[in-house]
Amino acid sequence: AKDAGGNRYELADPDSDARAIDRHSLTNRLPAALERDEFFLEYQPLIRMSDGHVDGAEALVRWKHPVHGLLGPDRFIPLAEHTGLIVPLGRWVMEQAVRQACAWHEERNNAGKKKGRAKGKGKDASEGDRRPLRVNVNLSPRQLHHPDLVPDTVAVLEAAGMAPSSLCLEVTESALIGADEDELKPLRQLAELGVEIALDDFGTGYSNLANLRRLPATTLKLDRSFTRGLQQHPADPADVTFVEGIVTLAHALGLAVTVEGVETEHQASKLRDLGCDTAQGWYYARPGPPSSFQQGFAVLP
Ligand code: C2E
Ligand code: CA
Ligand code: CA
Ligand code: CA
Repeated sequence: AKDAGGNRYELADPDSDARAIDRHSLTNRLPAALERDEFFLEYQPLIRMSDGHVDGAEALVRWKHPVHGLLGPDRFIPLAEHTGLIVPLGRWVMEQAVRQACAWHEERNNAGKKKGRAKGKGKDASEGDRRPLRVNVNLSPRQLHHPDLVPDTVAVLEAAGMAPSSLCLEVTESALIGADEDELKPLRQLAELGVEIALDDFGTGYSNLANLRRLPATTLKLDRSFTRGLQQHPADPADVTFVEGIVTLAHALGLAVTVEGVETEHQASKLRDLGCDTAQGWYYARPGPPSSFQQGFAVLP
């Protein structure tokens, strides 16, 4: 099921009847899968474009299905969202990811001590690298509207002793479209506690600027479809203009910009020149096990 190219778990299944049956059996299996620990997380680094350092990582869930093998989230997250299992699954993801971030933090601190680096009290450039790695966790719409989101998140952070600012919750722009003040309240509360909020797949959801202004977001994650045109040499001028405009707007609103789907060096340097703050993509690293970060706190290519 897993092709040789890496992290693409999608099973080729052109037969839609087989697909429907598959969906049904996958759906039925979800609760047991959670109980039997069949889910696991991979992590993909987020790179600070100014200096190439790893700023954090996005947690991406996978399912080790006993019959179908490794399944990517596109196969089962929509099913879990539909049945509501996404709530306990999402909580599990957050718990795992926060624990992992704490483990990395400790590792890095220990590595720092070994090097005999003095623990600075200021916040100069080198102090920036002592900061805990941030971990990004995807939230589905159902989780967003669940009454336990805030208490669950606070409980997970407290149990791990992690600063709220080391957690970034990724919410798709489309999940927030049309949300009224009441529906935004939980996110706003989390943001006030210091949790970072990223608008995922930004640019695909038709949100207007007025909407953007009232969302409690701290980061825009520009969808892959907008960075694709920058792979070409020379880059597609329309895409350059678009990214430039988004970066200007985001920075004017006090938001950071993360770009997804960075696959080539050309794309990376172009996006850096355009002022993007953070990048994620195969050019830097594919999603991988937590161990791929053990030496990965330093500069990547
Ligand atoms: P997303 O949040 O937009 O995550 C980024 C996706 O792009 C990931 O796919 C990642 O592997 C892929 N990707 C990263 N770099 C590159 C690149 O350079 N080129 C290309 N072509 N792709 C790249 P993945 O892991 O299959 O996840 C798919 C989607 O599933 C995610 O999209 C997210 O919406 C959802 N998802 C994953 N984990 C979770 C989770 O724990 N909870 C929820 N609710 N959704 C999740
Ligand atoms: Ca995401
Ligand atoms: Ca995304
Ligand atoms: Ca996506």
